[in-house]
Amino acid sequence: MSDSSSPTARQYEYRAQMQQLLHLIIHSLYTHREIFLRELISNAADALNKVRFLQLSDTTLGDEDYHITITLDSEAKTLTVEDTGIGMTEEDLVERIGTIASSGTLEFLDEIRKTDKPIDGNLIGQFGVGFYASFMVADEVVLETRHAAPGSQGLRWHSTGAGHYTIEPVERSSRGTRITLHLKDDATDFCEAYRVRQVIRQYSNFVEFPIFLAEDQVNTVEALWRRSRDTVTDEERSEFYRFVTNDTTKPLGHLHLHIEGMVNFNALLFVPAAVQQGMFQNEDQKTVQLYASGVFIQDNARSLLPEYLRFIRGVVDTDDLPLNVSREVTQKSPVAGKIRTTLTRKILGMLEEWSADDGDRYDRFFQEFGPQFKMGLPTEMARRDQYIKLLRYPSTRTKPTETTSLEDYVARMSEGQDSMYYLLADNIDTALRSPNLEYFREREIEVLLLVDAVDVFTIMHLSEFEDKPLKSIEQADLEDLSEKAEDTLSHEATDGLLTLFRVRLGDRVQDVKASKRLVDSAATLVAAADGMDTQTERMMRMINKDFETPKKVLEINTSHALMKNLWTLHQTGGRDELLDTIIEQVYDGALLVGGFLDHASDFSQRMTQIMVEATRPAQDRQAS
Ligand code: ADP
Repeated sequence: MSDSSSPTARQYEYRAQMQQLLHLIIHSLYTHREIFLRELISNAADALNKVRFLQLSDTTLGDEDYHITITLDSEAKTLTVEDTGIGMTEEDLVERIGTIASSGTLEFLDEIRKTDKPIDGNLIGQFGVGFYASFMVADEVVLETRHAAPGSQGLRWHSTGAGHYTIEPVERSSRGTRITLHLKDDATDFCEAYRVRQVIRQYSNFVEFPIFLAEDQVNTVEALWRRSRDTVTDEERSEFYRFVTNDTTKPLGHLHLHIEGMVNFNALLFVPAAVQQGMFQNEDQKTVQLYASGVFIQDNARSLLPEYLRFIRGVVDTDDLPLNVSREVTQKSPVAGKIRTTLTRKILGMLEEWSADDGDRYDRFFQEFGPQFKMGLPTEMARRDQYIKLLRYPSTRTKPTETTSLEDYVARMSEGQDSMYYLLADNIDTALRSPNLEYFREREIEVLLLVDAVDVFTIMHLSEFEDKPLKSIEQADLEDLSEKAEDTLSHEATDGLLTLFRVRLGDRVQDVKASKRLVDSAATLVAAADGMDTQTERMMRMINKDFETPKKVLEINTSHALMKNLWTLHQTGGRDELLDTIIEQVYDGALLVGGFLDHASDFSQRMTQIMVEATRPAQDRQAS
C-alpha cells in the first residue's frame, strides 16, 4: 500500500475511542456491506442540499450544477464518489471527518462487542458513523475537497484507518468532494458497474440529485409526494419508505396528502410498524423532512407535528415558505403552525378510521406507539374529544394483552356506578395482585390498569370523560363492605386494635384505619385522602432520590382472622413482644406489596422469628 503523504502533509492522530471503532470496522465481518455506498451518497446529497440552500441568498458559491458521479476502475480496484456540494474546510475535515460526535457511538461499540456473528452493516448507518462505513470495504481512503466559499484551498485527506490520517493542500479548481476507496481484495465486486448500479437502485433511488455511473443516470430523482395520489403504486411507496427510514419492515399505514387552501403543501407520511431504535431517546432523531418548493430544508422538522405524534416519518413539502429564510425562522413561522394543525387532524382522522374499521391494525399501532401517543394528554386541547376516544388501556375486564377504550368502559358501567376507576402499577401482574382491587372485584366494578410508565405523568390530565369523573381506586369513596361481613371485630375491639397499631407505628404512618376495601388481605397502604397516589409517589422517588415520601394510611381488615387473633392475643395478655413483632410485620408486608420496602433483611429476620413461634410445640407455647 502506498504511503501517499508528502512533506507538506500534516498528520493527525485519531482519538482513542475512534481508533477502537475503526479497528472494529476494519476487522469485523459484515453483512450488507454495500450500505457504505448509501452512506457516501447520502453525505454527498446533504452537501448538495447545503450548497443549494446557501445559493438562494449567496451568489458567490459557484454555478448551479448539482450532481453525484460514481467512477469505477477495476484495474486499480477503486470506487470514487464525487459531488458538487458544499465541500469542506480543513476545520471541517478535522472536526467532522476526524472525530465522531454522535452520542450513540459508544453504545454502538458495545453492541458490536457483544456480537460474535457477522454484524449487520446497516447498524453502521444508524449510529452516525456513515463516512467510516467505507472501511468495511476499503483499506485506504482518499478524500479531496474544496469548500464552496470563494478563495478556498483544495485539500487532500488520506487514511488507512490505522492510528492517524493526513491532510495536505492540493490543487482543486471547483467546489465539492471526491472520495476514492481502494477496495479490499474481498470487496472488488464494488468496482463492477452492474453491482454498483443495483446497490444505488436499492438504497438511493430517491436521492433528489442525479447520480451518474459511466454517464448513465442511475436513480429516479423524483419528488414522489408531488405526484398525484393514485399514480403512485404500492411498490413505489414502499420503496420510498425504505429510502426515507432505512426500515425494511412494511409500514403500518400511510397518508398521501395534497392540501390546498389556508395552507398549501404535499406530504407523504408513514406510521412505521414498530418503534425504531433510538426513536424517542434521541433529540436529533429523524422525524419528518421539510422541503420548501422542492428544496430540502431540514431532516427533523419537529414543529410540524405535536410531540406525541413523533413516530410519524416521511416528507412535507410546502410552497408557502420563502426559500431564503433560515431554518430557525422556518420553525417558528405561522406556516409551520398551520401545517401542524392540518397534519394532526389528518393523522387523528386516519387513526380513528383504523380503530373503527380495522381493529387489528389499531391495536398493533397502540401496542407500539401507545406510550408516545398518550403523551398528548396534557397538550392535545384542540381535538381533545377525538384524541381521548383514541386512548386505550387494559382493564380488569379485558384479557391481559387486550385493551379497552373509555367509551366502551362507560358503556359497561352499571346503574349505580358514577365514577370511572383506575389503578396505577408497574405491570399487569402486579396490578392484578393489588389488595386495593379486592373491593372492586367483590362489587364487580371495572378498573383500568395503567401500567405504562407514562401513565403516571399523564393520567392526572384526564379528570373526566363523558361527565364521569376518573379516579384512582386509592382515592375512591367506598361504601362499607365490612357491614356485610358478619364475622368482624366489634366497634370497641376495632378501636382498641387501631390504637395498638397507632402506638406501635407512631409517625411512620399518617393514620391507621379499618379498611372498607379489603376482602382477602389483612392490610394495605393507601394514600392519605389529600395525598398523592402511591404510584405517582414512586415515580417521584425515581426521578428525585431526595423526594420526601408522603406518609400513608395503613388500612387493616377487621374481618381477617389475623386481626381477630391479634386482638385476642392482646386481651389474653403476656405476649406483647410477639404482638409488636407482628404489627411491624403487617406494616412491612404492606410496604412490600406496595413496592416501598427498603430494608428486606429486617422483614426476613422478623419472619423467621414468627415462624419459630408458630412451629413451637403446643405445650411450650402454653407455658411461655
Ligand atoms: P453523518 O453524515 O452522520 O454526520 P459522517 O461521518 O458520514 O456522519 O459525516 C460526518 C460529517 O462530515 C458530515 O456531517 C458532513 O459535515 C461532513 N461530510 C461528509 N461527507 C461530506 C461531503 N461529501 N461533502 C461535504 N461534507 C461532508
